[in-house]
Amino acid sequence: MKLENYEVHLPSYSIGDHIYDKIGSVCESYGKTVLIIGGKRALAASLEKIKSYVAKTNLTIIGVELYGNDCTYANVEKLRRLPVYSEADMVFGVGGGKSLDTVKCLCITDDKPVFTFPTIASNCAACTSVSIMYNDDGTFLKPNFFVRPAMHAFIDTEIIAKAPAQYMWAGIGDTYAKYYEATISSRDERLEHFTALGVSLSVMCRNPLLEYGAKALQDHRQGLCTYDVEQVVLAIVVTTGIASIFLTKDFTPDYNSGLAHAIFYALTAYPVIEEKHLHGEVVGFGVLFALLVDGQYDEFEKIYKLNKELGLPTSLEQIEITEDQWDESLDRIPDMSDVKHYPYRVTREMLEDAMGKLTERNLRS
Ligand SMILES: [Zn+2]
Repeated sequence: MKLENYEVHLPSYSIGDHIYDKIGSVCESYGKTVLIIGGKRALAASLEKIKSYVAKTNLTIIGVELYGNDCTYANVEKLRRLPVYSEADMVFGVGGGKSLDTVKCLCITDDKPVFTFPTIASNCAACTSVSIMYNDDGTFLKPNFFVRPAMHAFIDTEIIAKAPAQYMWAGIGDTYAKYYEATISSRDERLEHFTALGVSLSVMCRNPLLEYGAKALQDHRQGLCTYDVEQVVLAIVVTTGIASIFLTKDFTPDYNSGLAHAIFYALTAYPVIEEKHLHGEVVGFGVLFALLVDGQYDEFEKIYKLNKELGLPTSLEQIEITEDQWDESLDRIPDMSDVKHYPYRVTREMLEDAMGKLTERNLRS
């Protein structure tokens, strides 16, 4: 194994139902003036609370801006040209993945201190060192990797618990996928410290969801901020963020993806997937195939039951994909970049066999 030189910046975060109390002690050393950038609904849900806590600090909010509709380089440039952005010592990014990714792409690139305020628990954007960039027409462009995540994430579980529960519902599928994809992608390899840490951590992307997932979703649907909700938020936002940093070496996400994501990205050829379904929802469906193809029948059973319990998909009908579209996808899935680094070549036959097993399982339930 070769010697290497590399730097790692881990996410720093605080979590709780009145955690904005920490804004002063965390942010004051970075300056005085704050620009808030967020999504419309996210700001409606959180701005008053943020303002009331900022009022207790030495910080001053000098502007509030909308991020735009998508995480695009055009939106990043538009924000960069705002005079209030140059005047601000720091930026607070507020919202879901696209909003936080836009603000990270803006500020981390400029070396301006940026803090994240996730308002939904759909993914790990608040804690990770990458922004998922889109084209102006809304289609996926590429991941933009950074050397570090935001300076700190303020995860207010009260605000998250009051948001629509469907985001956490889908986030659960994307989160347990991390464990299975990391462990399968790295199988039988002699991993160096960095990647080995990511793979070891990834088990925490699965366990809390099996344990608390169903109750957390139930509580979340009633707007309740409970221990179970907090455990699931931690898994989706924090653990996945840390794991994905360690699973992406030299900006190469070899261990950070796998068959479940290959299935998702292959299915995005059909607009219904991005228009009517959530990323993690379809990835959670894809995990069932990853496990069947891999022969992990006990794990398949656990996730199958969890999906059933949560209402995550276990059939093509639930994601509105026809038999013909699925059949067409079977030629594309094995060539997706997500399964380039995999312990074996995924084939059409393996996927057909897995579908047979899944159909059989659905008939039994
Ligand atoms: Zn994903």
